[in-house]
Amino acid sequence: MSKLSRLNKDRTVDGILVQLPLPKHIAEKTIIQAIAPGKDVDGFHPVNAGALFTGQPCLKPCTPLGVMVMLEHHNTALRGAEAVVVGASNIVGKPLAMMLLQAGATVTLCNSKTQNLEEKTRRADILVAAVGRPGLISAEMVKPGAVVIDVGINRLESGQLVGDVDFDRVARVAKAITPVPGGVGPMTIAMLLQNTLDAAESLAPSST
Ligand code: NAP
Repeated sequence: MSKLSRLNKDRTVDGILVQLPLPKHIAEKTIIQAIAPGKDVDGFHPVNAGALFTGQPCLKPCTPLGVMVMLEHHNTALRGAEAVVVGASNIVGKPLAMMLLQAGATVTLCNSKTQNLEEKTRRADILVAAVGRPGLISAEMVKPGAVVIDVGINRLESGQLVGDVDFDRVARVAKAITPVPGGVGPMTIAMLLQNTLDAAESLAPSST
């Protein structure tokens, strides 16, 4: 905590990232809340989360931000589109649902209790998988012509790294699909650098 306090006050430091998960004896919530919102380049502080929710300028979580930048870069129509986000964590699914909503999409946010997942995913013009279960999204669950974003990262027993989407089969029905590795992951890192630059230029809420 004292280290964070020092970094918060240090005018030569623009961004602070606390690598999660933390050891069990350290409360994640307490640590995140101890970061100055203006230096919170992960965008996890409740001040930034609240600002995102209410559509105000803020530092946004890097993974969902990277997804939005990818969609916008490829001129994916978001206004009026059906977007389905599978996975509702605070760091990916929830903020991404909010960003898609603010971009004009009609958003369905699914979690582990969702009934008839396939019925929801098949409606999606934009389908995002952010769960952490290899093979969760099969080709039958995807509307032909959908844009599919795979946030999941799973290490198989063979050592292979895969996402949540059955890439080979889904690629045959999707209009566009992100690979794992090499898709959302590098975008997340790029957005972390973008957030740090934004924090340095003070586009974010107050640094203290
Ligand atoms: P998390 O905190 O474990 O959340 C997983 C979410 O998936 C929860 O909302 C959970 O529902 C939901 N879920 C679980 N089983 C489901 C099912 N069968 N159907 C629908 N929803 C289900 O995970 P996370 O931190 O968001 O990460 C998700 C995945 O993305 C992981 O593989 C992680 O490694 C990856 N990831 C990648 C990046 C990147 O840069 N590419 C960044 C962050 C995370 P409940 O809310 O009901 O529990």
